[in-house]
Amino acid sequence: MCPAETAPAILTVDLDALARNYRRLVEKAKPAVVAAVVKADAYGLGLAEVATTLWEEGNRVFFVATLGEGVTLRCLLPEATIYVLEGLFDAPGAFVVHRLVPVLNTLEELALWRETAAATGRGPLPAALHVDTGMNRLGLSPAEGRRVSQDPSLTIGLELVLVMSHLACADEPHHPMNTEQLRHFTEVRAWFPHVKASLANSAAILLSPAYAFDLVRPGIALYGGHPFFDGTNAATNPMEPVVGVSARVLQVRNVDSPGTVGYGATARIEKPTRIATVAVGYGDGFQRTLSNRTIVTIDGIRTPLVGRVSMDMITLDVSAVPAEKCRPGSYVDLVGPFQSVDELAAAAGTISYELLTALGRRYARVYRRSARP
Ligand SMILES: *Cc1c(COP(=O)(O)O)cnc(C)c1O
Repeated sequence: MCPAETAPAILTVDLDALARNYRRLVEKAKPAVVAAVVKADAYGLGLAEVATTLWEEGNRVFFVATLGEGVTLRCLLPEATIYVLEGLFDAPGAFVVHRLVPVLNTLEELALWRETAAATGRGPLPAALHVDTGMNRLGLSPAEGRRVSQDPSLTIGLELVLVMSHLACADEPHHPMNTEQLRHFTEVRAWFPHVKASLANSAAILLSPAYAFDLVRPGIALYGGHPFFDGTNAATNPMEPVVGVSARVLQVRNVDSPGTVGYGATARIEKPTRIATVAVGYGDGFQRTLSNRTIVTIDGIRTPLVGRVSMDMITLDVSAVPAEKCRPGSYVDLVGPFQSVDELAAAAGTISYELLTALGRRYARVYRRSARP
C-alpha cells in the first residue's frame, strides 16, 4: 500500500466521528446496552480500527456475521463478548475455543450446541436465540421458540443469554410491520422472562424507545449512514458522517471536435469540453451503475460524471472548473461534505450498506482523529 500522499484514491475514516456516533446511540438507547455490529469488516471501514475505537469508547459487546469474523475480532479484543449472527454451522468446537456466542437459528443448531456442552463438560455454554417475528429469513419460528421456553431439556448445559429478533422495515418509520413485529417480539420475550432481549437495529433505536429492550444492535448509524429510507436527505441524518472518499486526476484533455467519451461511447460531446480522467472505478466499489448518473466535486464545484465507469477510472466534464483547480494530481471528492454516502448510493441505485461494503481494499486508508465539533 503506497502512502496516502501518493495514492490515487483515498478512503478516509474519521474515528472520532465514529466515537461520537457511538455515544449518541448510547444516549438514545439508555438504559439498554449498545452492541456494535461490525460484520463485513465493519461495513467495509476496517474491523481492527473500528472495533478498537469502539472498545476504547466502552463498547463491550459486538456482533459479527461469521465465525471467521468472530475469530479475527477475538484476536483483537480478548475480553469482548462476541455474538456470531449466522450461528454454529458445523464448527461448534471453534466457538468454544474462541469463546464466541452463537446466535442459534434452528432447533438442530440448538441440539448441536447442547451436545457440545455435554462433550466439553466445562459448565454451561452461552447462547443467543434468534426467533423470527415476520422477516422469514433467519431464526426459529415463534412456535419453536415457545417450545424451547417450555421444555428445559432443550437447553440443558446451555445458558441462554439473549433472545433476539430482527425488523424487516425499521428504515420506514411508518411501516405497519414495525409495530406488528414489536408486538410479536414482546410476546416472545415474555416466554423467556430471565433472558435479555434485543430487537433494534440502527433505525429502530431512533424510531422509538419501545424497540430498545435490553440490548440494541446498531450498524449503519455508527458508520454515518442515514438510518431511514429517505436517506438521500443529509439534513435529516442524525448521525455524523464518518467516511470520505477521494481520488486524484490522472489526465485532463480538451475535446474540441464532436466525439464520445469512454467505453460504449455512451456520452456524446458536441461543443468544446474539458474532460478529466480520475483514478477510481468499479474495482474500488465506485459502481458501474453510476455511469453518466452522478456528480462529484472538485474544490466544492459540482462536476458531472460523463461516460461509463471503468474498472480503474472515471471521466468528468470539468469545463466549469478553473484549470488551476483541476490538473493531474488534483483531488476529486466522491463522498464528503458535498455528497453523502447515501446520495452516492442512491445515484448508483443502491443503499449506503452496499456502497460501503463494496469499497474494497485498493484505497489508501486514512484513519483520522477529527477535532471535536
Ligand atoms: C446487520 C444487522 C444489524 C445492524 O443493522 P443496521 O441497519 O446496520 O443498524 C442488526 N441486527 C442484525 C440481525 C443484523 O443482521
